[in-house]
Amino acid sequence: MKSVGRFAPSPTGDLHFGSLLAAVASYLQAKSTGGQWLVRIEDLDPPREVKGSATRILADLERFGMQSDREVLYQSTRFAAYEQALEELLGSGQAYWCGCSRSDLPASGIYPGTCRDGLPAGKSPRSVRLRVSDKTISFDDLIQGRVAENLAQTVGDFVIRRADGIAAYQLAVVVDDAFQDVTEVVRGADLLDSTARQIHLQHCLGLKTPAYAHHPVAVDDSGKKLGKRHGSDPIASLSPSIVLQQALEFLGQPCPQSQTLDDLWHWALAHWDVSGIAAQAAMPLNPAKI
Ligand code: GLU
Repeated sequence: MKSVGRFAPSPTGDLHFGSLLAAVASYLQAKSTGGQWLVRIEDLDPPREVKGSATRILADLERFGMQSDREVLYQSTRFAAYEQALEELLGSGQAYWCGCSRSDLPASGIYPGTCRDGLPAGKSPRSVRLRVSDKTISFDDLIQGRVAENLAQTVGDFVIRRADGIAAYQLAVVVDDAFQDVTEVVRGADLLDSTARQIHLQHCLGLKTPAYAHHPVAVDDSGKKLGKRHGSDPIASLSPSIVLQQALEFLGQPCPQSQTLDDLWHWALAHWDVSGIAAQAAMPLNPAKI
């Protein structure tokens, strides 16, 4: 079976080096074996959206020579599918309504199960939570190796529909990865601790679990993630071939210098080796280099 990969940016700012890494790594992982690469715009959360950024992200990807093999999927068109999954999980008792607000939660952040057996008197339904069980979920990450997490000990029953009525990221991503037949999820290691929750959701919904590969995130010298929230420069103004060369180097695929963008892609598609990527959660990158 041909692999299907995807890049799933949230339109909360322009494409920057940190998010480009996920685009490049997912693209090469899928395309180097003749698979398909899809783009999904995760525009679930209107208050966090930056107007025009989805269009600019797509334009930047194209400038870099990356194009979705299918029509771009927008999560804002998928609310009915998320509601259907929620109904299924509520109907089977795997999920339940919770009346707790953030201030009801203990400092550990682990949900204590207050509404598990029904809403306590005086509480009204706010969000929907998925039950977790006290067992270890493990998977073999193609980059990070074996990862194991016991959700009861790390997060507890977690929110799949937020109090504002919007499907939580965890639910939307699982429903859409399955809808798009994604076989390999390649993304930054900042999402590594979401993966066990996503695998649990897949089990609850009877969906297949894709392969996962989490590349290190790029950080500055002080260990801060390079990203839109830390004001890294958008890459729109930079030369795509220089940035791609940097991205390949960061991903452990040192390529011959000074090539055209087309030559770089040819080289990268022929030489892509996921085992070259460091099994680290974060790696420093000197922003002056890009
Ligand atoms: N939309 C998420 C983000 O931009 C990525 C989701 C994913 O790759 O699973 O951080």
